[in-house]
Amino acid sequence: MRVLLAGGAGYIGAHTAVALIEAGHEAVVLDDLSNSSAVAVERVGRITGTTVPLVIGDAAEDAVVAAAFDDHGPFDAIVHLAAFKAVGESTQKPLEYYANNLGTTYALLRVGIARGIRSFLFSSTGTVYSDPADLPFTETSTTSIDLSNAYSKSKRMNEVVLEDVARVNPALSVTSLRYFNPVGAHPSGLIGEDPTGIPNNLMPYVARVAVGSLERVGIFGDDYDTPDGTGQRDYIHVVDLAAGHVAALENAQPGYDVFNLGTGSPVSVLELIAAFERASGRELPREVLPRRAGDVAATYCDPAKAQAELHWQATRTIDDACRDSWNWQSQNPAGYASA
Ligand code: UDP
Repeated sequence: MRVLLAGGAGYIGAHTAVALIEAGHEAVVLDDLSNSSAVAVERVGRITGTTVPLVIGDAAEDAVVAAAFDDHGPFDAIVHLAAFKAVGESTQKPLEYYANNLGTTYALLRVGIARGIRSFLFSSTGTVYSDPADLPFTETSTTSIDLSNAYSKSKRMNEVVLEDVARVNPALSVTSLRYFNPVGAHPSGLIGEDPTGIPNNLMPYVARVAVGSLERVGIFGDDYDTPDGTGQRDYIHVVDLAAGHVAALENAQPGYDVFNLGTGSPVSVLELIAAFERASGRELPREVLPRRAGDVAATYCDPAKAQAELHWQATRTIDDACRDSWNWQSQNPAGYASA
């Protein structure tokens, strides 16, 4: 397959590009580099021994997407990972988040369908599930649009759009992949997560503490109703997540479908910090802070559907993720800017 990866210079996109190429497919990246780096795309080329074309532009503009098809198409599939993803920021900039996160989908679908793509994969999120009584979440668990932030709402809104578009394009395969918490890095240490500014997410924050660029990990609450009182998440190694995209494309069926991509095993904040201490051999200073607004005690999935229908399952552990994250962070203490 020849695949257009919108947002392919980002964290998940770069790992997905590697996975696609290693599985024998061709990848072309379209990215506006607003929260990503061209260095990542060069390094995907280095890892895979290829040159990966990079089209720099806004995937929300039809003309940009059409030019990518003109210059690098035809494409069999579009993988859409081009979105703003900072949860906190999204509550301050809802219009920017809705415009970008839906506008990219509209343009990619309009142009992609006109140019005859067979499949469309969408980066969704496990935060669309709204009822903790449903844990572990399956694809039929209750979803809501009434979520705590514009980022998550924009993802659920996209799913509604995709389901309707699939209905009137019955030959097209449209798949939403509901990611749980992506962590880790490629084992080469050449690509990894490179957040701008102070990381909001736990794993990159812990990695910065381990390299010494941040002082201590703040634990957002230790009085949750969980085994050790800290929040539990379903951390999925980004290399497993990338493999999930390849599996979804290779097993794509006409119509709309949804798959959870997670491990199914909850890991607490304290367990993640302990795993990173083992991986890095460093003691990580920490302090307990108040709960973060909008956080839930626990979220994790039942990944059985992806296993049954995509023949995919996560195989990497939290220790693998911490080792690879530490390898990436210690080789690139300032991310791609270290290059
Ligand atoms: N968390 C924390 N300190 C941080 C960042 C996150 O204790 O500096 C906790 C957070 O409360 C949650 C877990 O770590 O229980 C994962 O948070 P993250 O932001 O990585 O993912 P999300 O909340 O989006 O699942």
